[in-house]
Amino acid sequence: MKAAIVTEDKKVRVEEKQLRPLNHGEALVQMEYCGVCHTDLHVKNADFGNVTGRVLGHEGIGKVIKLGEGVTSLEIGDRVSIAWLFESCGRCEYCLTGRETLCRQVKNAGYTVDGAMAEQCIVTADYAVKVPDQLDPAAATSVTCAGVTTYKAVKVSNIRPGQWIGIFGIGGLGNLAVQYAKHVFNAKVIAFDISDEKLELALKVGADHAVNSLKDDPVLKAKQLTNGDGLDATVVTAVAKKPFNQAVDVVKAGGRVVAVGLPTDKMDLDIPRLVLDGIQVIGSLVGTREDLQEAFGFAAEGKVVPIVSKRKIDDINQIFEEMEEGKIQGRMVIDFTT
Ligand code: NAD
Ligand code: ZN
Ligand code: ZN
Repeated sequence: MKAAIVTEDKKVRVEEKQLRPLNHGEALVQMEYCGVCHTDLHVKNADFGNVTGRVLGHEGIGKVIKLGEGVTSLEIGDRVSIAWLFESCGRCEYCLTGRETLCRQVKNAGYTVDGAMAEQCIVTADYAVKVPDQLDPAAATSVTCAGVTTYKAVKVSNIRPGQWIGIFGIGGLGNLAVQYAKHVFNAKVIAFDISDEKLELALKVGADHAVNSLKDDPVLKAKQLTNGDGLDATVVTAVAKKPFNQAVDVVKAGGRVVAVGLPTDKMDLDIPRLVLDGIQVIGSLVGTREDLQEAFGFAAEGKVVPIVSKRKIDDINQIFEEMEEGKIQGRMVIDFTT
């Protein structure tokens, strides 16, 4: 089968790969589509360590074609997801308290184990979340990482209906953050980016206001739009340090800043601002299987509509270049059906 494999020179090679036999509790999935996340770009660039030889991909959707021994949660023909949360231990403090993504024994698809950017993929059956029938499988790929991550981040922001939330970075994740915040949590949404095209998209998918941080001062704009108060919360998906600092500056006292993007950098935190204004800064990592089921549900209802373009696996290096140049609207999705 064809797979997108990380090479030593930080590129991706599409090559034939033989899969090992299934172990107890595993299933074999014939991939239909796999989205290309900015995390795949970090992984192939070795931002989180060298993973030469690894098959990329954690926005995978496909159909189960074979079951290993002992699998009871799936049947042949089920449409399932392959997400960043590939498997956790199921026994530790984190797994037992609804925080399985933080498990210290966690396995991550396309990073610590081979992922879904391939014609076939082996999954741990109990961690493959079923996709609702009403949801288009190409669109479902985006929910598998970008959607569940932003749905969870907005949850973590504690935003309430009618409150103001700022989304920094309107890429594959950010446009879905806008949609979940607006159409599921009923918040008022301000989108921040440095590209007018991304901001146009944000307005199209439901943002109340859009701010180009290169042309306008985000802090001034946020104040103007909220009667001088500032925002109740922010979610940062941008891959740069500056928007992280801006996200702290635009919230009002008691505001929450949820960090999602992964620039390899440090953010600046003004300690008096943090303490005297009671600001909370919280990291949020993808979502649990339960979060993913919920996120799929809202997409199946049509409240959240991923924007996807289908591409061939041979385009993968080109897609990463487009991503680095900030040219992608929504998500590029590798099509394994043709
Ligand atoms: P993307 O490339 O599709 O989008 C990034 C967006 O950030 C673009 O719209 C870009 O214009 C914008 N941006 C860049 N500089 C900016 C600035 N200075 N101010 C405002 N916006 C700016 O990437 P993506 O797939 O949406 O992923 C975003 C980040 O989230 C990546 O670092 C990825 O690794 C990370 N991520 C984290 C999790 C998690 O669980 N925490 C999950 C998935 C992805
Ligand atoms: Zn991802
Ligand atoms: Zn665990």
